[in-house]
Amino acid sequence: MRLENKVALISGGARGMGAVEAQLFVNEGAKVVIGDILEDEGRRTEAQINESGGECIFVRLDVTSEASWQQAVAATVARFGKLDVLVNNAGIFRTEGVLETSEELWDQVMEINAKGVFLGTKHAIPEMRKAGGGSIVNISSVAGLTGGPGSAAYRASKGAVRLFTKATAIQYAADGIRANSVHPGIIETDMTTPNLLVDETARQRSAARHPLGRVGQPQDVAYGVLYLASDESSFVTGSELVIDGGLTAQ
Ligand code: NAP
Repeated sequence: MRLENKVALISGGARGMGAVEAQLFVNEGAKVVIGDILEDEGRRTEAQINESGGECIFVRLDVTSEASWQQAVAATVARFGKLDVLVNNAGIFRTEGVLETSEELWDQVMEINAKGVFLGTKHAIPEMRKAGGGSIVNISSVAGLTGGPGSAAYRASKGAVRLFTKATAIQYAADGIRANSVHPGIIETDMTTPNLLVDETARQRSAARHPLGRVGQPQDVAYGVLYLASDESSFVTGSELVIDGGLTAQ
C-alpha cells in the first residue's frame, strides 16, 4: 500500500477531484480527513468511503478562515494522532477577464484559491514537524502556468499557488517537509460541467485543446497527487506536475 500509516487532510474533499483523491488515498492505506464548506456532500463522501472499508472523517472547513483551519488540523490530530499529508485542493473557477472582474470577485477568488493554500500550509507545518516530515500538494492549474483569454483572477490565484509552493519547499526542506504543485488541464467535474463542458460542442472544443484528444477525469489527477503524497516522491520538492494531456506542451 502506497500510503500505509499516513494521515492526510484534503481541502475541498466533499466532491470532485478531492473526493476521488480521498477514496484513492484510503484504498492505498491512508487515514483521510476531508474538509469542505459543503456539509451534506462532505457527509455523503465520508459515508461512501467508510462503506468501502476505509477510515475517513468529514470536517467543516472554510479555507478562507484561519480559525477553521486550526479546527480542521486539530480534529485530524485528535482523531488520527498526526498529520503527514496536506492536499490544498479547494478552489473556485471564474471566467471573467480583467475588465469584467469586480474588486469583490478578485478578492473572493484570491481568498479561496491563494489565501486558503497559505493558511492550510501555515497550520499543517507545525504538525508535520512533529511527525518528522510531510508532503504538501497544492492544486494549481494550467491556468497557473500560461496566460489566455479570460479567467484573470483565477490565473493570478493559481500562479500565486505555483510560487508559494516553491517558497514553502525551500523554507521547510530542512524539516523533511516537501511541497509540490499540480497543474491539471480541463478535468470533468462540477467545476467545469456548467461552463467549459456545458454541451457537446463545448466538450468537443475543450477536448480538442488537449493533444491527447480528450478532457481529463478526476482519476488522472488523483494518481499524480498520490505519487506526490507518497514516499515514492521523497526526492521531489518545489516541482510542478503537469497533468494536462499535452495542453501546455504546444
Ligand atoms: P469542485 O468539484 O468544485 O470541488 C472543489 C471543492 O472545493 C468544492 O466542494 C467547493 O465547494 C470547495 N470549496 C470552495 N470554496 C471553499 C472554501 N472556502 N472552503 C472549503 N472548500 C471550498 O472542483 P474540482 O474541479 O474538483 O477542483 C479541485 C481543484 O482543482 C480546484 O482548486 C480547481 O481550481 C483545480 N483545478 C480544476 C480543474 C478542472 O478542470 N476541474 C483544472 C485545473 C485545476 P463549492 O462548490 O461550494 O464551491
